[in-house]
Amino acid sequence: MTTQYFDVVIVGSGLAGLTAALQLAPTHRVAVLTKRGMADGASNWAQGGIAAVMDGADTFDNHVQDTLVAGAGLCDLDATQMVVENAPQAIRWLQSLGVPFSMEHGELHLTREGGHSHRRIVHATDATGAAVQTTLMDAVRNTPNVTLFEHHMLVDLITDRKLGGTDNRCHGVYALDEQADVVVTFSAPHTILATGGAGKVYLYTTNPDTATGDGIAAAWRAGCRVANMEFIQFHPTCLYHPQAKSYLISEAVRGEGGKLLLPQSAGGGRFMPQHDPREELAPRDVVARAIDFEMKKHGVDCVYLDISHKSPEFLDAHFPNIKARCAELGIDITTDPIPVVPAAHYTCGGVVTDLHGRTDLAGLYAVGETTCTGLHGANRLASNSLLECMVFASATVKAISTDAPTARPALPQWDDSRVTDSDEMVVVTHNWNELRRFMWDYVGIVRTTKRLERAAHRITLLQREIQEFYAQFHVTRDLLELRNLVQVADLIVMSALMRRESRGLHYSRDFPQTDEVGQATVLIPPPR
Ligand SMILES: Cc1cc2nc3c(=O)[nH]c(=O)nc-3n(C[C@H](O)[C@H](O)[C@H](O)COP(=O)(O)OP(=O)(O)OC[C@H]3O[C@@H](n4cnc5c(N)ncnc54)[C@H](O)[C@@H]3O)c2cc1C
Repeated sequence: MTTQYFDVVIVGSGLAGLTAALQLAPTHRVAVLTKRGMADGASNWAQGGIAAVMDGADTFDNHVQDTLVAGAGLCDLDATQMVVENAPQAIRWLQSLGVPFSMEHGELHLTREGGHSHRRIVHATDATGAAVQTTLMDAVRNTPNVTLFEHHMLVDLITDRKLGGTDNRCHGVYALDEQADVVVTFSAPHTILATGGAGKVYLYTTNPDTATGDGIAAAWRAGCRVANMEFIQFHPTCLYHPQAKSYLISEAVRGEGGKLLLPQSAGGGRFMPQHDPREELAPRDVVARAIDFEMKKHGVDCVYLDISHKSPEFLDAHFPNIKARCAELGIDITTDPIPVVPAAHYTCGGVVTDLHGRTDLAGLYAVGETTCTGLHGANRLASNSLLECMVFASATVKAISTDAPTARPALPQWDDSRVTDSDEMVVVTHNWNELRRFMWDYVGIVRTTKRLERAAHRITLLQREIQEFYAQFHVTRDLLELRNLVQVADLIVMSALMRRESRGLHYSRDFPQTDEVGQATVLIPPPR
């Protein structure tokens, strides 16, 4: 076994990780580790687009205000202003790399999404993420200073304290090389966590399988604070079909006039006007809660999203992928309404960073959905997250260029004396299912203290069992992901129990009011 030496190790190959890699490459030797293939992650799945003020009739102030309103009093103003003001530059950077954004009359075509007061969503039809991810992957493949390690999964961060020292510093990572089935040591004075969100902690999610909160859990174990974990965004409109795993029906469908309808068995007709004056364009949490309410009230499995009043040409131009995916399942969106349900979509909380991606550990940075930068507050405004990935990746690159690297200590190799027991591994699968089911049932869109406590009790039992596995058995991706998911579930439940009010994405039946005096971010300190 060898140690790999780099100037910067980036864990994650989504928009956050690849932006940082490309911008660091001119001056640093960079390793990008990713636990599956390079394209596997939420960035590749993003549909709607990227929010940026690109139109003369719009202003930075409008975008800041819309973000603050969605964030329900918990956004950090500095972070919000920084992201909004750097958005046009981030878009121009993507254009310079060749991202094929949708254009109209020689200008970027801007669409509008829920919570935005203006048209400001830059997009590549309805597959923006794939267009961006593909372009960045091509650029990375042509960048000699970046070495890609696919199928390498972060196991844990290597900290000074783990080495017996007293510094709050990170020296690199241990990563499981799945193909060789060995744990490799990566030594670097700078490590960036860009591991994405944690949607897989819930049974129903729009997220890809990679979204198991690995970076959040590893950073917390290593000594970083995490915050705002109670704020999980549930996307109101995930395609409801037995063969459609995690397929999102973009916000832009409502932005372009799509209407939500009850099933015929429940009388049909629109219901959003009875829930909010902004109707279908209300923020996601309001729409998701309204759908949850109507589904429970009428005992139905889904509601419908109807865009069939638009012409087939319009739907072909704006939603070619959604139209094609629905058609594969026998749904013709030019004539039929689309069956939809809410599903866990975005992790607003995460590893606490400053405005330059620095965490509580020197030498450790975090970027993208894995972080809590203060931008999203209690609820993310649609299309602000891809933007956050890029703006904070650029800010982190600047910090790395100025933060002094330290001497590299000798790093011990991973202790690989643990055994493999395939019988026991079946239990890992059962635990995965159990966790995701009770998180959905007890820690979902509408919460109560009793249910949260019930979830906390189950989490304690699972943690004990998983710790035993982790100590005894050879590590596998499933085991590592389960260990991280349970950790993240614990952080979500702890945060939700600490918030004794309803705000943004956190709604408790026991505390339905918003506490205007006591508003604050819930910070969870790391274990001692
Ligand atoms: C269906 C869908 C649609 C969306 N639409 C939009 C949209 O229109 N606009 C918008 O702004 N946002 C959208 N979002 C949210 C947005 O896509 C994400 O917030 C954003 O892409 C996160 O980027 P990231 O780089 O932080 O993480 P990701 O793109 O998820 O990348 C994380 C990377 O880390 C890797 N990784 C994870 N754990 C490990 C580990 N232990 N070891 C090694 N590698 C690891 C993953 O494999 C992956 O490469 C959408 C999300 C989804 C799921």
